[in-house]
Amino acid sequence: MASGDNQLVRPRCCKMSASSKLLVLNAGSSSLKFKVFGLQPFVAGIGGMFDRIGDAVNCTLKASTPADAKGGKGRKWELTIPAKDHVGAMQSILDFIKDNASNSFAREVVAVGHRVVHGLEISQPVLLTDKTIGKIREAAVLAPLHNPPGLQGIYAAEKVFKGVPQVAVFDTAFHQTMPSHAFMYGLPYDLYEKHKIRRYGFHGTSHKYLVEQAAGILDKPVSETNVITCHLGNGSSIAAIRGGQCIDTSMGMTPLEGLLMGTRCGDLDPAVVLFIQKQLNLSVQDTDTLMNKKSGLLGLTGSNDLRTVIEGAQRGEPRSELGLAMFVYRVQKYIGAYWAALGGKVDAVVFSAGIGENSSNIRGLILGPLKGMGLELDVAANNATVGGCCGDIAAATSRCRLLVIPTDEELCIAEQTLEVVGFPKPTGATAA
Ligand code: ADP
Repeated sequence: MASGDNQLVRPRCCKMSASSKLLVLNAGSSSLKFKVFGLQPFVAGIGGMFDRIGDAVNCTLKASTPADAKGGKGRKWELTIPAKDHVGAMQSILDFIKDNASNSFAREVVAVGHRVVHGLEISQPVLLTDKTIGKIREAAVLAPLHNPPGLQGIYAAEKVFKGVPQVAVFDTAFHQTMPSHAFMYGLPYDLYEKHKIRRYGFHGTSHKYLVEQAAGILDKPVSETNVITCHLGNGSSIAAIRGGQCIDTSMGMTPLEGLLMGTRCGDLDPAVVLFIQKQLNLSVQDTDTLMNKKSGLLGLTGSNDLRTVIEGAQRGEPRSELGLAMFVYRVQKYIGAYWAALGGKVDAVVFSAGIGENSSNIRGLILGPLKGMGLELDVAANNATVGGCCGDIAAATSRCRLLVIPTDEELCIAEQTLEVVGFPKPTGATAA
């Protein structure tokens, strides 16, 4: 790493050209997702994911290009390429893009944006320097599953794209506007002061993107909107957003709190944790694995995929019926709570991510019983808005809009990266 005045990389004086590219990276413990954006005009290009990094046999690279503006289909690839670590995966992605999409790609990249899960109390995206990397390392104490892989992605990109400015965009940043009565736990104050134990919230990039899109659909400045955003995927969270600023969100110090998720238990009486450890003689690590990886829909029904749970429930399997009912009920509870947090004045409830974008069934189950609050679904619009479409699924008589908006975290990371490195605000429509 470079030292000196804390600059990891110095933004090089960058003249943008028609071939300039921005690369967005999202590193997991054994995966590396990537998406390339052209900057003049600003369009999404090739993207994909390296999976099972470190596995010599099953390591795969999947990639695709978006459909073109004229409706032409994009290209798709699936290759087995061994990568022993993130640096190897990064190098292979580079070679792959060079061979299949852009032959001088390495020279065309003018900035790299990284998704980093935990940024403690950092409220803005940051240019990566020795100092800011130190902060990400510090935050790894609270996010041991998430921040170390993010750092691997950063180191890999630094090795491959020497001298190119890199930016970290934090999942926690958008939620830093939460007031203390929403982010504090009812624990001794010392624990907050000395150990930073508080609620941070996650999926912030998605919630930020969704509220900005919602404001566009509502045709109002975001500062004049009150919105509840529901990011429902394998990991799920809800946010209450007043005037574009998050006032509460369902995830906490880690992404474990809140809704019932694919493999995470969500809200739990903390005494249960103590009881489990004592009665089952489980270590801290085992308890963590139990709550993060073996609970939620998986622990209740045997599958973390809500589609499988819905099929089971339709066959009348009691555990699947229970898992489905619990998932739906928790979402309803949070919508109710955030309705109150927003003073009962809500312009839109937004649904997004794998479940929110694709399952009209689940949206119907969540919203049906909320009719008494004035939330009224247009059944035909709900059924038609699936598979990545954006739309308003509320009946004309509904008290607030019910919006389905496909999330695009990479696009949001790309825009924030450009802002940090000081490139002119891009113009031009983004591809799908
Ligand atoms: P992640 O949190 O991993 O990014 P996604 O947002 O991609 O997750 O959501 C993945 C989840 O979406 C899957 O586990 C699956 O349960 C759910 N999903 C996708 N399509 C449907 C559908 N048509 N009906 C119900 N659930 C769906």
